[in-house]
This record gives sequence, structure tokens and C-alpha cells, in this order.
Amino acid sequence: MRLLVIGGSDAGISAGLRARELDPTADVTLLVADRHPNFSICGIPYHVSGDVPDWRNLAHRTTATCTPPACTCASNTGPSPSTPTRTPSPPPPRTAAPRCSATTGSSSAPVPSPPSRRSAASTGSGPPTVSTSCTQGRVAGANAVGGDAVFAGSLGTQAVKVFDRVVAGTGLRDDTARAAGYDPITVAVTVDDHKAYYPGATPIQARITGDRSTGRLLGAQLLGHRGAEIAKRVDIYAIAISYAASVADITDLALSYTPPLGSPWDAVQAAALAWQREPGA
Ligand SMILES: Cc1cc2nc3c(=O)[nH]c(=O)nc-3n(C[C@H](O)[C@H](O)[C@H](O)COP(=O)(O)OP(=O)(O)OC[C@H]3O[C@@H](n4cnc5c(N)ncnc54)[C@H](O)[C@@H]3O)c2cc1C
Repeated sequence: MRLLVIGGSDAGISAGLRARELDPTADVTLLVADRHPNFSICGIPYHVSGDVPDWRNLAHRTTATCTPPACTCASNTGPSPSTPTRTPSPPPPRTAAPRCSATTGSSSAPVPSPPSRRSAASTGSGPPTVSTSCTQGRVAGANAVGGDAVFAGSLGTQAVKVFDRVVAGTGLRDDTARAAGYDPITVAVTVDDHKAYYPGATPIQARITGDRSTGRLLGAQLLGHRGAEIAKRVDIYAIAISYAASVADITDLALSYTPPLGSPWDAVQAAALAWQREPGA
């Protein structure tokens, strides 16, 4: 099988590598518009800020290192944006797989999001994330070589660092939950990231949204110091939402605890406890 993947960013490289993983005989060509397949766009702000002085370090691969047996890179930097400059006598590219195209790029490769365990809280809001591109690409790559993979949906989980602060969120907010037809209850709490008696404790502002009638967790946002594991804590909520957990389920989680790093009721759970105390919850 010969497979042409147009675009070698997060989705494209994921599609190409997954196709090769499942079918080692597949002849996969990544058509890229520059010399840096899988270049870390996300790292550009940190090059601009000076944290990553050399922009070349943002390239996960180059066309030279993206070689068979994994994938072949074909450069598309010539005058015609649609004409490969490599791959002599290319065969007709494989047409779209049953569920999704091998063509990638968030804007150019929509992969249908079927009803799934995530669908109830899938937002589709906010900018696309690398995580979504990688999973969509992996699905596209699998299906391009005859697989039957299904994209599970996106919660729009995101984290942003601004100086020494981190803000992160997943799923629905109060307003988006209401717009999606839920009857949300949203609570906000401020709790320390670890035991206050151990030096360096910093406050985490947490807000979670659950559905009044079902108790289902719909979304959460956290804000705190860079050292407060904000992104990883929001990922706990993302996992819970992915598996249709209730807010009460969060309080049942057996999370780790040691005074320098957390509390017996972690901040993630403290917000859930506050939600349960809310009248009507
Ligand atoms: C400054 C910045 C910071 C970001 N930070 C984060 C972050 O911290 N976390 C996060 O999750 N997301 C972040 N994102 C978003 C993330 O970069 C995108 O969601 C992700 O790169 C999308 O990957 P993709 O493969 O779906 O699409 P794209 O990255 O858009 O890749 C599509 C590729 O296809 C190529 N292409 C298109 N047409 C052709 C053609 N005809 N021939 C050859 N090649 C073609 C394009 O050149 C491009 O390389 C950031 C984005 C930006 C711009």
C-alpha cells in the first residue's frame, strides 16, 4: 500500500507513524511544506521569549531524520503547492478512508466525532490542541491502512502559562453547559496546593461545573502557581469526564498524598466536596 499524508505537523506525523506501525509494509510519504516535519509550533512563544534561544531545537525531526523505515518526507516547497517534488511517478494517492481522510491539519482534515463516552461534555470550543491533532492523526493513520479506529471526541482541555501562573481548563463552563442543555451548578474554591505547614504552599483557585439532575461532572478550571501542578490536576478532571464520572466520583478517587506535594483531600477533590455541599446538588 502507498499512502500520501499531506502535512507533517502533529496530525500528519501521527497518521504516518500509526499507519506504518499497523502495516509495516505500507509505503508512507509525508508531504511537508517546509524542511521541518513535526516542528513544535507550541514552542514558538518560548523562542520569542528567549527561553528557547535556538529555534532549531523546536524541530522534533527534519526531513533528513524522518526517513524510511518510518516515513519518507517529500518537500512541497516548490511553486505549486500541490505538486510533490519527490516521489517519482507517484501512484494515485489513496482516497479517503471510510471514516477520515489521510490528509491532515486541523483545518483541512475534519475527522468526524461520533457519539462516544466523551460526547456529553465534548465542547468543540476553544482552539484545537496538539493532543486532539495527535489522536485524530492516529485514527486517520489507522483507518488509512484498513483499520476501524474511532475518534473519541475532544474536551478542549488546555493549559497556559503566563509568567509564573498557570491556568487550565477542561470540558464545559457554566455558560457553555447551560447552552448545551444542562442544568449546571458551578462552585469556586481556593485551596492550597499542599499542606500549609510545609514551606512553599500556594493557593489554587478551582472552579468545577456539574449537572444538577445527574450529578455528572461537566467541566473544571484551575488557576495557580506554576509549581502547583495545575495542568496535571486538570488532567484528572479530564480523565474523569472522559469516563462519564460524577462529581461524587471525584471524592472517591484514591489520589496520592504527602505534605510537600498535596493534601489528604487534594485540591481537585476539595472542589468536588464544595460542589456536593451546594444546595440542590
Ligand atoms: C503559537 C502557537 C502556540 C501553540 N501552543 C499550543 C500549546 O501549547 N498546546 C497545544 O495543545 N496547542 C498549541 N497550539 C496549537 C497547535 O499547534 C495545533 O493545534 C497543532 O499544531 C495542529 O496540528 P495539525 O497537525 O492538526 O495542524 P497544523 O499544525 O496546522 O499542520 C498542518 C500542516 O499541513 C501543512 N500543509 C498544509 N497544506 C499543505 C500542502 N498542500 N502541502 C504540504 N503541506 C501542507 C502545513 O504546512 C502544516 O505544517 C499552538 C499554536 C500556535 C500557533
